[in-house]
Amino acid sequence: MINNPLVKKSLSQIVEKEHEDNLKKRYREYYGGETPEGIDNLIRALELPQEDIQFIADNIRETVEETIIPIINALDEGIETDEEIAEKTGIKLNIVRKILYKLYDLKIANYKRSKDPETQWFTYSWKFDKEELINQINKESESELKALNDRLAYEENNMFFICPEGHVRYNFDEASDEEFLCVCGEELQFQDNSDMIDQLKENIKMVESDLDSFNKSIE
Ligand SMILES: [Zn+2]
Repeated sequence: MINNPLVKKSLSQIVEKEHEDNLKKRYREYYGGETPEGIDNLIRALELPQEDIQFIADNIRETVEETIIPIINALDEGIETDEEIAEKTGIKLNIVRKILYKLYDLKIANYKRSKDPETQWFTYSWKFDKEELINQINKESESELKALNDRLAYEENNMFFICPEGHVRYNFDEASDEEFLCVCGEELQFQDNSDMIDQLKENIKMVESDLDSFNKSIE
């Protein structure tokens, strides 16, 4: 189950969040003012070069595969303390701790604190909440499906008009409000959106089949 693509996708939000925070900081330094939300919007707003975009994508994938998943696998095998996880996985202790707290923030892992009666030190025993991860993945896929189905209905139930120069895309009502003219003065043209509709249907099928194989992988 842990190696299922939907698990990786869900876990990548941990690393994405870090990149997002860095990009936000960079945006504020350059431009100030209102900072865009979401990593894709930030990448666009900062006009990041292709190599930086690739670096971020590689870093997210590698961190999930080489750090987060091994830590979850260790928890899943019943290893409970950060030190034992670090030993088992070969991942540095400070990184193991950082990831454990991020998993805790997402409610995917939780811990119990207990005091060693001899040393008086606290020990934390960690547990992986598999059910919670499964629930979250189902919720994420369902909200993605809902967004895709809403978009499909909108595409199917409307006619679209575009500027030949690519400035605007309006539905019928919006286009008639503008008297079928773009802001640039060009006359709007009817757009055949059947390719877009096919693409949306394809995406819906893909999300459904990914979710299906995920749910089969946990049985
Ligand atoms: Zn135009």
